[in-house]
Parts: sequence; C-alpha cells; structure tokens
Amino acid sequence: MSSDDKPSEKPTKDKAAKDKSVETRSEKTGTNGATTSAEKSAENGTANKPAPKITDSWVGANPNKRGVPEGLWLGCDGCGATIFRKELEKRLRVCPECNHHFYISAPARISQLLDQDSFEEWFTNISSLDPLGFADRKPYPERLVAERAKTGLDDACITGRGYLRGRPLVCAVTDSAFIMGSMGSVVGEKLTRSIEQATELKLPLVIVSGSGGGARMHEGIYSLMQMGKVCAALARYHEAGGLFISVLTNPTMGGVAASFASLGDLVFAEPKALVGFAGPRVVQATVKAQLPDDFQTSEFMLAHGFIDRIIHRAELRTEIARVIDYCGLRQ
Ligand SMILES: [Zn+2]
Repeated sequence: MSSDDKPSEKPTKDKAAKDKSVETRSEKTGTNGATTSAEKSAENGTANKPAPKITDSWVGANPNKRGVPEGLWLGCDGCGATIFRKELEKRLRVCPECNHHFYISAPARISQLLDQDSFEEWFTNISSLDPLGFADRKPYPERLVAERAKTGLDDACITGRGYLRGRPLVCAVTDSAFIMGSMGSVVGEKLTRSIEQATELKLPLVIVSGSGGGARMHEGIYSLMQMGKVCAALARYHEAGGLFISVLTNPTMGGVAASFASLGDLVFAEPKALVGFAGPRVVQATVKAQLPDDFQTSEFMLAHGFIDRIIHRAELRTEIARVIDYCGLRQ
C-alpha cells in the first residue's frame, strides 16, 4: 500500500485547501472542535461493525420460536419466496427463484467484483463539515455519526484501485445505506480525486452507483456543485482517452443519475434497478399522465436507449473484463 499510495497523497492536501466543505482528518485532528471530536467517537464506535441488511425482511426472527436461529431464512422482496440465507449469499444475494437482486453494501460489492484482497482503498481521510448548520431530525454532524455507526462506512462512497480478473482498474462504489447514498462534498471529492488518479495512472474506471438520494440536501449548494466537479473530471479523463464503465444498481436517482452515473462510455445496469431523476410519484404528479408499469426500471431505460446493457450480477465481472480487453486498455 505504501509506495503506490504516495501519488494520491499530494492531491489530497491541495484539494482540501480549496474546498472548504471538506477537511482532511489526519491533518486537522483536534483543531476543529465539535466536528472532529464527534468524528473521533464515530470512528472508535464503529471500527468493526458489519453493514446492515436494510432490505431484508426477516423470517424466523421470533425469539420465542425454538430451533430457528435468527436470520437463517429471509423473504424475497421480488417474489415473496422464503430463501435460505446461505444459498442467497452463495448466489451473490440474487434470489434463486426470481432473480431479484438484493441490496449489497459497498464493501460486499468490492469483494464480489474485484480479485480477492486486491483492493487498495483511497482517500479515507476526508470528512464533511456542516456548512449550513443543517438539521433534519437531528443535526447533520450527529446524523453523520449515526450513519457511520449504522453502516461502518466513513461516507456513502468507497474508492480505490484494484484488479478485476487480473486487469488493473480504479473502482468506486456508492452505498445506498448511508443517507441514501447521496452525493455530498465527500462523495464528490472522493470520486473526483479517483477519476484524476485514473487519468494519471491511465487505468480504466468503474463506478458502481447505488444512490437513491441524489445530491445531499444536508450540504445544499456544496452537494450540487459536486455534480459539475465530478463531470468536469470525467471530461478530462475522456479527453485523455480513458475508459469509464458506469454500473447502475438499485436505486440510482437524482443528482447521481443526472451526473456521473449517466456519463459512462458504457452504461450497464442490474436487472430491475430503479433508475431515474425524480421519483415516479413526483413525475406522475407533475405530468399528470398515467406512467407505464415498468417506468424508471433498467428494462425501461434500456428500451429507451438510456443504458447500453442489463447485466446479471453474477456476470458483471466477466463482462467488465471483456469490455476492458475489447477497448485495449489492459496494461
Ligand atoms: Zn425472489
């Protein structure tokens, strides 16, 4: 990790000075009052907690019912079938009955997609400030602490480099469990730096989006400007001849769908993922027309030319490797 990581340290310092909505933790520990101490406690409290299974509807969770350990079986959200949990994990969390693709966390996605132990995570030392003093049900700094404790993630995005079937690449994954996978300044900054690294290292780029929230309202305009910032980095990457494969998973909405997720040289999607900008209810209320049943699904988007292919989770590795080879970027 050490020698390869050095080039990535330089942009870290330069960028942090420019962008006031993020800070570099390792450099400023102890100097930022409430934010820093809150983050510290978040880190201490969440070191090894597993990511939650947010879409599981548990069967057999009744503690009074003897002989059925909690979480051994779960119900499919797609067809209602009761599935043996181990069987589901073996099938990459895809229902054996109906092919419903269950939620998987960003770390699980990385381990499914990339070669074993090949992933080197980048830019883990960036965290959000609270530029607006925003509060939903709780103040934003407390919200971040709670989300970190819940998911075990620093923010809604993991980026880094790794190998996919022996092919080196830069990979980023957003996780819908962390404030709906919304793009605040940290997600935008991590993606931008990763794209810049991919440009410099001349590596293919794969971004797997699972963002139901679009731009993160907690950071207002700082979130919105991430859309332009990430897209500008992608434009420079494109001009340098880079290959960007965007993979849309359930859900990919709002400012994420309206920026980097739609800009892939190739845009793949998992089956039946929700993909769109505003949600179907908002669209229905605005256009006042009956929407098709499959509106804003991957299948609908494919039929209307918005995405290039729908790929089953089990085939994603093979297909991405094939595209990388086809485009001749293997180093
Ligand atoms: Zn099913």
